[in-house]
Amino acid sequence: MTDQQKEKIIQMREEGNGYGAIAKEVGLSKSTIGNFCKALENPPSYCLECGKKLVHIEGHRRKKYCSDKCRHSYNRKFGKNNVNVSYETECAYCHKKFKTYKSLKKKYCSWDCYLKGRYGGK
Ligand SMILES: [Zn+2]
Ligand SMILES: [Zn+2]
Repeated sequence: MTDQQKEKIIQMREEGNGYGAIAKEVGLSKSTIGNFCKALENPPSYCLECGKKLVHIEGHRRKKYCSDKCRHSYNRKFGKNNVNVSYETECAYCHKKFKTYKSLKKKYCSWDCYLKGRYGGK
C-alpha cells in the first residue's frame, strides 16, 4: 500500500465512504481496506501505568491498564478515580484545617461543627 493510497483511504473514510467504494477507488481488496481502517480507528493502546501494549478484545470495553495492579498504582498516583485520597481542607465553621477523604466530601472538621454550621447556634 502506498502513501498515496493510504491518504486516499483516509480521505474517503472521512467523507463517509464504505470499504467497498474505497476498495474500488484505490484498487485494493475490500479486506485490505477494512483492516487498514480498523487499525486506524482502533489504534493500539498502552497501559497508562507501565506502557505495555494492550490487546483490545473486540466487543469489550477498551482497557486502560494491563492489569489491576497497574490500575491501582496509577489511581494511587493521580487519584482521579480514587475516592480514598485524603486531602486537607478547611472547616466551614471553625476554619480549622483538617484532613478528610474525597469520597466523604466533608465540610466540617467534626460533628459538632457540622451541627453548628448547619443549624447555627453557638
Ligand atoms: Zn501495566
Ligand atoms: Zn470545625
